[in-house]
Amino acid sequence: MLNGLPGSSASQETNLLTLVYFCVGGLELIDASDALKKRRRDLIDFVYSLQSHGEIGGFFGNLNDATQNRCRENQPEVCIGTNIAMTFAGLATLLTLGDDLTSIDRHGIVRQLMALQTAEGSFCGAVPLKSKMDVESGRLPLDGERTNSEADMRFVFCAAVISFIIRDWSGVNVHTMQKFIWSCRSYEGGFSQVSGAESHGGSTYCAVAALYLIFLSKNLGLIQNSCEHCDRMTTALFGLGADGDAPNYIRDELIAWCLFRQGRGFNGRPNKPEDSCYTFWIGAVLKMTNAYEFVSEDLLEEFCMETQDGIIGGFAKWPGSRSDPLHAYLTISGLSLLPRYVFVENSLDFEDGNTDEKEDISLNFDEWKLKAVHPALNISMPAFLHLSTLFRAA
Ligand SMILES: [Zn+2]
Repeated sequence: MLNGLPGSSASQETNLLTLVYFCVGGLELIDASDALKKRRRDLIDFVYSLQSHGEIGGFFGNLNDATQNRCRENQPEVCIGTNIAMTFAGLATLLTLGDDLTSIDRHGIVRQLMALQTAEGSFCGAVPLKSKMDVESGRLPLDGERTNSEADMRFVFCAAVISFIIRDWSGVNVHTMQKFIWSCRSYEGGFSQVSGAESHGGSTYCAVAALYLIFLSKNLGLIQNSCEHCDRMTTALFGLGADGDAPNYIRDELIAWCLFRQGRGFNGRPNKPEDSCYTFWIGAVLKMTNAYEFVSEDLLEEFCMETQDGIIGGFAKWPGSRSDPLHAYLTISGLSLLPRYVFVENSLDFEDGNTDEKEDISLNFDEWKLKAVHPALNISMPAFLHLSTLFRAA
């Protein structure tokens, strides 16, 4: 995949950067650092080649968009917008490759976040084509001009991770973001993509991870203005509130909803088939809420192993179907939440940059061990620790 996109994935070329994130992240978690070392410099250069240098920063998903945009830099009204999910994928990939992030345009990324947040607190995915951006305020017009971009919980998660990674929340109105997230808590106990919709495994992950990162950032002194009521709900959600702060059922109902998703693998909603990607989405929520011990690990492992693609390798959505980068990565990161798979490895291993190593990354499943994954950031723990050292050095 890193050598060139196979025909079966050609339709995903517009999101090339996310495919790179899945591949690099997966190789890192299975500890195939030799395979990454060979391409480390090229991959870092590639990610940076997708960075926008225009008024609105962030990353593009593919070279075509990046190049077209560069040609139009003197015509901002027809510039193609960067995408918030690509900015997340770009930053996560750079961290996983051990980059020090000194070449990212922090200010441009902050302006990207400002441009994409809606009045209700959620985020759009991309700055729309030909948007009438109010460059002064950095905000999109809220009169329906931007209707070609969806706004929902996925992009709220991206905004939270991005702000956490760049250690700057000034692009986000945290108060309205928190209110939006809590407005999406459904009667079932999980969270939906938008207010009033059905709880969903993916949006529940996005909501809980965003709340987790807001909580962490507030404790680090990175967030000053937040919603006090929402903060009390969040401490209850993670089981950290003092008695009487907020009702315990918030956490109990979330955990129950997640646990009811498990048959062998997890599904994303009631009456849906189990799907390997929820190994991470649901598993990480249970990890963040300190309830992973209630997962039936044997059944989950059995299901995941059945989704392996015996022909081209990797993991598929369902047993007997074809593997793809998203499901392969999320199954690996989901399995790395299982204590039985994890070996302790604290640092990224890119020191010597040796390119002569053999590139045998075949795995012996009897001895399969994985690096731990950070449940809220969805990057390896060594990549998270690398980010922490950048914080300390700053
Ligand atoms: Zn899936």
